[in-house]
Amino acid sequence: MTRPIPYGRQDVDEADVRAVVECLRGDWLTQGPRVAEFERGLCERTGARFAVAVSSGTAALHLAYLALGFGPGDVGVAPSITFVATANGFLYAGGRVRLVDVDPATGLIDLDALAAALVELAARGTPARLIAPVDLAGQPVDRARVRELASRHGARVVEDAAHALGATYRVGGETFRVGACAHADAAILSFHPVKHITTGEGGAVLTNDPAVHQRLLDLRSHGIHRDPERFERPADDPLAGPWYYEQASLGFNYRITDLQCALGSSQLRRLDAFLARRRAIAARYGAALGEEPLRRWFHPLEVRSGVEHAFHLYVLRVAAQPGEGVESVARRRRAVFERLRAAGILCQVHYLPVHTQPFHARSPAVEKGPLPGAEAYAASALSLPLFPAMTDAEVERVLAALRAWAGQAEGAPR
Ligand SMILES: *Cc1c(COP(=O)(O)O)cnc(C)c1O
Repeated sequence: MTRPIPYGRQDVDEADVRAVVECLRGDWLTQGPRVAEFERGLCERTGARFAVAVSSGTAALHLAYLALGFGPGDVGVAPSITFVATANGFLYAGGRVRLVDVDPATGLIDLDALAAALVELAARGTPARLIAPVDLAGQPVDRARVRELASRHGARVVEDAAHALGATYRVGGETFRVGACAHADAAILSFHPVKHITTGEGGAVLTNDPAVHQRLLDLRSHGIHRDPERFERPADDPLAGPWYYEQASLGFNYRITDLQCALGSSQLRRLDAFLARRRAIAARYGAALGEEPLRRWFHPLEVRSGVEHAFHLYVLRVAAQPGEGVESVARRRRAVFERLRAAGILCQVHYLPVHTQPFHARSPAVEKGPLPGAEAYAASALSLPLFPAMTDAEVERVLAALRAWAGQAEGAPR
């Protein structure tokens, strides 16, 4: 039996292993020099001025929201098609979240729906404090437009770039790197094993704002600092010796370890190779999906012009046939999924809409407008396997299984 093909997985080589083992034999297991080294690497790679590495992408979202002043009574805005963490960060901070529709052709936040939601929130007297666009699958959202809408309403922007490390986009003839925060107040990354690079668990916040950077550092470790310039207790106080530190705010233990950052820095050196392989596999999928019989049954997500996609995921949509409804498409998606699974190809669905999760559907802190795009997207989306170590033969196995399904569907009475 050929081995099953997961939708994503890490690629850890001997150099990665050596980096971690070397760290284990050294003096620091947590918060040593490797954390700062990894953060410098992230800054170099993204172009951001500051990076703060933390224990997960979820922790990164929570801290980014807090560091930008989001708190009880505030409203944050996120697309309904994302991993739940994007929305949950607002709730951790004691605020509310307004879920906005997506464009089903891309899965990205629908900018007209976003504009309408911002107008509605302002008219109600609860203007949005934060907007968290998501670069679904690795495609950057139209950041210039999000930035412009945010400025108009006095909101700040945290980019959930968990899928998009290595992606670029163009604004006015200029190319920008995701994470550089040219059109956002902060951006977050995740280093979960399925993401572009891994630290086991891990994440980072990127920002160009020194004050936000300082708040992130404080919040990462209990709100404690050791900066004499900022001490509230007078320097001549006999209790305040060289051992002294102060907790000036309520922070967390969201620290990442040196062990994890040793792996992160080693992985970062391999990012270009990872991206190249992901893009090559995506190109092969795209070419095959452009031909019959697949063309009739499946559509890849549309990619905006000027975007260099990072392809965290390869999402296709099961095409609605003329006059077909959402439920019928969802049933066919299920059939395709089962067929692929029987062939050892483990697809996934990214994502069920956040507003349909039982917790979010019940929570009085979760608000939503109409979400037809999110529902159409969620009924039809399927993520094909995509990871750097995937072989060409495995890619062809996925395509052969899709063709076999399509061949059977063509033959079936309709
Ligand atoms: C992975 C991911 C996160 C963060 O996840 P962690 O597992 O906490 O690192 C946040 N948002 C999106 C869109 C993600 O895919």
